[in-house]
Amino acid sequence: MNYLIYASQAARPMRSEDLADLLESSRKRNGENEITGLLIYKASLSGDDHGYFMQLLEGPSSALAATRTRIEADPRHRNMVVFEEGDSEARSFGDWSMAFRHVDQDDLAAMEGFADLGSPTFWSRARSGDLPDALDMMRWFAKEDV
Ligand code: FAD
Repeated sequence: MNYLIYASQAARPMRSEDLADLLESSRKRNGENEITGLLIYKASLSGDDHGYFMQLLEGPSSALAATRTRIEADPRHRNMVVFEEGDSEARSFGDWSMAFRHVDQDDLAAMEGFADLGSPTFWSRARSGDLPDALDMMRWFAKEDV
């Protein structure tokens, strides 16, 4: 089982119906491809941008690679930074074709290294791989009501 975790910037405002569309098609596609995971969306920190995504994807390596390629090309987001990837013995989100959390600053406040998701210092640390264990952080959400 392979997994990857990335963050990206929404390229346009994401209304709740946009997020619902994105989730519906992702879940359908992931079900066909044995992909599971968690998508986090955080609203913008300022009026200058449109919010941020963080996503854990897990599945067989070829299906994961194909899904990653499609996601990278998606015009709904940009500046995608993959900051953790590797092998995992078991799925963390095996029950979800794509779990979803719409988070705010308070939800992330206790998440060391991720509380400032979207800030310039966050992107700088993400690009240099200088973030704490993101898989553990994403797993924390699995215990929550997602
Ligand atoms: P098609 O459906 O043929 O679409 C053609 C192009 O249009 C693609 O570039 C597509 O990205 C783009 N597109 C599709 N719908 C819209 C829209 N509403 N607005 C603007 N452009 C659009 N896909 C998964 O399979 N699994 C996931 O877990 C997953 N997670 C995602 C997370 C994020 C943050 C984003 C932005 C996208 C995610 N996607 C996911 C969607 C993925 O990027 C592709 O759109 C989807 O897999 C369909 O790919 P396709 O090549 O068949 O495109």
